[in-house]
Amino acid sequence: RNYIASQFGKLNDVQKQAVFYTQGPLLILAGAGSGKTTVLVNRIANLIRFGNAYQTEKAPFGVSQELVDELELLLREKGTPSPELAPLLAERPVWPYHILAITFTNKAAGELKNRLSSMLGEAGQDVHASTFHSACVRILRRDAERLGYPKSFTIYDTDDQQRAMKEVYKSLNVDDKFIPIKAAMSNIGRLKDKMISPKQALAAPADTRAGLIAKIYDAYQKRLLHAGAMDFDDLIYQTVRLLQECEDVREFYQSRYQYVLVDEYQDTSVAQFQLVYLLAGAHRNVCVVGDDDQSIYRFRGATIENILNFEEHFQGAKVIRLEQNYRSTSTILDAANCVIQNNQARKGKTLWTDNGQGDKILYYEADSEMEESAHVATVIGQNLRKGAKLRDHAILYRMNAQSGPIETYFARAGIPYKIVGGQRFYDRKEIKDIIAYMAVVANRQDDLRLRRIINEPARKIGATTVQNAADIASGLGIPMLDVIEHCGEYPALGRAVGALQKFYGIYEQLIKVYETLPLDAFVTELLDITGYRAMLELAGEEGQTRLENIGQLVSSVKTYADQRGPEASLEGFLEEVALISDIDSYDDQADVVVLMTMHAAKGLEFDYVFIVGLEEGIFPSEMSRYSNEDLEEERRLCYVGITRARKELYLSSANSRMMFGQTKRNKHSRFLDEIDPDLLTVEQSPVARQMQMVRQRYQSDARGGYPSNNSGVYLNREYNRVPANSTGVNITIKPRQTGTRLTSGIQAGSAIQAGSVAARPQQQVPSRDGDKNFRVGDLVEHKVFGRGVVQKITPVAGDTIVEIRFEKAGVKKTMANYAPLKKV
Ligand code: ATP
Ligand code: MG
Repeated sequence: RNYIASQFGKLNDVQKQAVFYTQGPLLILAGAGSGKTTVLVNRIANLIRFGNAYQTEKAPFGVSQELVDELELLLREKGTPSPELAPLLAERPVWPYHILAITFTNKAAGELKNRLSSMLGEAGQDVHASTFHSACVRILRRDAERLGYPKSFTIYDTDDQQRAMKEVYKSLNVDDKFIPIKAAMSNIGRLKDKMISPKQALAAPADTRAGLIAKIYDAYQKRLLHAGAMDFDDLIYQTVRLLQECEDVREFYQSRYQYVLVDEYQDTSVAQFQLVYLLAGAHRNVCVVGDDDQSIYRFRGATIENILNFEEHFQGAKVIRLEQNYRSTSTILDAANCVIQNNQARKGKTLWTDNGQGDKILYYEADSEMEESAHVATVIGQNLRKGAKLRDHAILYRMNAQSGPIETYFARAGIPYKIVGGQRFYDRKEIKDIIAYMAVVANRQDDLRLRRIINEPARKIGATTVQNAADIASGLGIPMLDVIEHCGEYPALGRAVGALQKFYGIYEQLIKVYETLPLDAFVTELLDITGYRAMLELAGEEGQTRLENIGQLVSSVKTYADQRGPEASLEGFLEEVALISDIDSYDDQADVVVLMTMHAAKGLEFDYVFIVGLEEGIFPSEMSRYSNEDLEEERRLCYVGITRARKELYLSSANSRMMFGQTKRNKHSRFLDEIDPDLLTVEQSPVARQMQMVRQRYQSDARGGYPSNNSGVYLNREYNRVPANSTGVNITIKPRQTGTRLTSGIQAGSAIQAGSVAARPQQQVPSRDGDKNFRVGDLVEHKVFGRGVVQKITPVAGDTIVEIRFEKAGVKKTMANYAPLKKV
């Protein structure tokens, strides 16, 4: 109780208005870090604790300050309410069960639940706080049959979708060179986001691209229906259909969810809007919070119109704007404003803070991405020494692929980190295989998953046999497993009858153990019955790693079963797996540096934020350079990135970067130029500085007559070759260090001489030179963790793992050759 009071007490007046304005539609439109999510949480707490007590006749707009003051006092001192307050408090509060709070990531939903439980105890746990997708799954699990799907429908991920698509292409005889499968998939996704049915899409003329996509869409939906499966976009699309088409279902949920709240509303699609609209239809108690400047999912069908038209859709809606930022220093906020004000398409708003100015933003120009990673590690080390925790640091980038060099550097240096996104655990082949087995056990109709594992491990069931069985099944409109069960009856399967019967035997055995054993024991048993374990055991080290991964899967099945108790089911587990989005691998508790994309960082905050790879072609991305709309979306993403930082922001770029196996040289990002230079401290790595001198020198030399157009200057990582410039001439550049002076010579077409790579970065990969022969007991100094004593030495291929007990950072393992580590 006191906790609630102290929470409400912290809110500013405008935030309080938003919290206590409980009835009718409400839009909270405000910039980053202004407390939107905070208000949402407090609003739910208020509903549950006091219902509509505050929204009285006397103070129609929520609060009368005297009442708030009295209430707070009351809560603190457990006194008796005044005659004026008593009847209001006696009013029935809102049951947690009647509240639906929707956010975008499971992480955010989890955080919401945590904050509610700590404010409200058990009542907080009964609020239905979830993502759009899991809210929809829940609705569909109850009534999917009304749309012709089984209740235990399978949820397809991208990989499954792609397989289904391939088959659609085959059946329609479409060449994927004409419309790449991925393009069709995203087109279909956008149609679903817009609630356009296959039938409506088919209105497009058949001989157009749209017409062909409609045909693919139609066939794809039929295939999914036949397989009893939905893809991710379906989860929303079909739920909206269900609510539109079935009045009783709609009414059920309208009375079930009497209060609907949506966070990050700027990223909702048309379908998601429809969902909110349908649920709120009867009572209109809908509260949405958002920031038009943080809309970063237009490419996935989000539409800012949902915010812009809110007042139209919900007549008489109240709009509240929050203007005070509580998260960041004014320097960070100013930088964010500098960037975002370059966008034309925005409502424009003021955001201020009284958090103080804070330090300037450090912009570091590195020569290579490895140097950039080393810089990040150095800064983290400095902060740790000042008392910061690893988990106060987040490293944000534009694309998952950028995490590589940082991961490599951190792994070698022994800096614990967690990567959010990228190759997810559940994307690994062995995990997908085992999940596929589980899915087939859960849903006999899941032909797609069946095809994934029917010959995995190899069982002499060839592709032709599988295709024949699939053709028979779709011809008869029955699941493939039915065909396999009676394979003897189909001449086309003649040759494979033995193998197929054996496989069906495995399936029956799986069903039997599934029905008799607890979930995790079932999965362990599955490994043996299917021969999967035996296959991996023969596969050497690689197989061992895969088995370890599967071991982790078994543990997560067990955790799931333990958490859910009697409610646990195979379907439930598979559903959870399907819904785990990138962000979920991030665990607040662990003290590790977090790496993720700026998209994944939405809504989160960290004391220290690094935005790396600020280069044209990376951020803003290559694609976005051709369209102003896309560029503005990149800029909003930059705004999101900057505003994650509470205390310090670090920006960096690398002059050359290895990406997808190629070295690229990009100019630093325009977003850096948009930030007022007074807010920045610029630092250049020594190598970057040297290289700049070389380049300047080269340019002035070149102006002496050769070549006339030097705009294509391009130095690769080894500084030894310049691929063709715009005149098509190969140029070699040869930096040579004489004493402390750096000179350059240019020769056309000649190869670089050994030893001329004077500018090779020293801090790029810490030097292998020096005494790296560590012994147990040695006193050492690590660039990030400071001083420590060597505890253990383990030689590995070509290097040594050194285990060190640091004075401050505890025990860490590092690689002797690569870690920024020296004897003292
Ligand atoms: P974003 O746009 O990034 O999602 P947001 O508007 O949802 O941000 P919150 O995450 O709710 O902002 O709040 C940002 C920070 O400010 C949080 O640390 C929160 O605890 C703090 N905060 C919010 N309101 C107040 C307040 N009235 N007094 C002090 N701190 C506050
Ligand atoms: Mg928020």
